[in-house]
Amino acid sequence: MRLGVMGGTFDPIHHGHLVAASEASHLLDLDEVVFVPTGQPYKKNVAQVSPAEHRYLMTVVATASNPRFTVSRVDIEREGPTFTLDTLRDLHAQRPDDELFFITGADALAEILCWKGADELFRLAHFVGVTRPGHELSGAGLPQNRVTLLEVPAMAISSTDCRDRVNDGEPVWYLVPDGVVQYIGKHHLYRENTT
Ligand code: ATP
Ligand code: MG
Repeated sequence: MRLGVMGGTFDPIHHGHLVAASEASHLLDLDEVVFVPTGQPYKKNVAQVSPAEHRYLMTVVATASNPRFTVSRVDIEREGPTFTLDTLRDLHAQRPDDELFFITGADALAEILCWKGADELFRLAHFVGVTRPGHELSGAGLPQNRVTLLEVPAMAISSTDCRDRVNDGEPVWYLVPDGVVQYIGKHHLYRENTT
C-alpha cells in the first residue's frame, strides 16, 4: 500500500489539513492517508496545547466521512515529546510492507533538516511538501529523490487563527468541518480560563 502520513498538532484540525491530504492522496495515488495527532509537540509550549484526547477526537470527527482517511494514536500513546522520526518508525513497524509518504506544509518542510534523525527520516518515508499561503515551498537542501513538491488549492487557514477566532467570539464555520465547530462548542475549547 501507498500510505500517506499527515502529522500535526490538529488544535484544531481545519480544511487546510484536509485539502492537503486529499490533494496529495489524489496526485500521488495514495491508498490511504493516516492522520497522526502529536502527543506533546516538542516545539510548542505544553500548557498552550489542548489535551491530546480532544485533538484526537476532532481529527476522528473531521476524517470520519472519508473512507481513505484514518487516524492513528501512535504519537499520543508514546511518552514524551513527539518526534516525526518516532512516528515513522512506529508506523513502519506496524505496517512494514507499506510505502510511507509524509505530507507536510511548506512551513514544516523548510525545517525538516533540523528535525531529529533527518537522514533516517528520508530512508523511512518519501516527503511530500505542499504549498501553504504565506510560506515559500522549497526543497532546497533536501534529497531530491525523496521529496515531491505539490501545488494544492490555497487555504489561508491556520489552527492558531481558528483558536484566536473562537476566543474572540468570531465564527470558524467553513474553516473547520461542521462537526469540529460543534465539538469545540460542546467542550468549550479555546476560550480563555476554560479547558
Ligand atoms: P498552528 O497554527 O497551531 O501551528 P497549523 O495550522 O500550522 O497550526 P499544524 O497542526 O501545525 O497546523 O500543521 C500540521 C501540518 O499541516 C504541517 O505540515 C503544516 O504545514 C500543514 N498545514 C497546516 N495548515 C495548512 C494549510 N492551510 N495549507 C497547507 N498545509 C497546511
Ligand atoms: Mg503549525
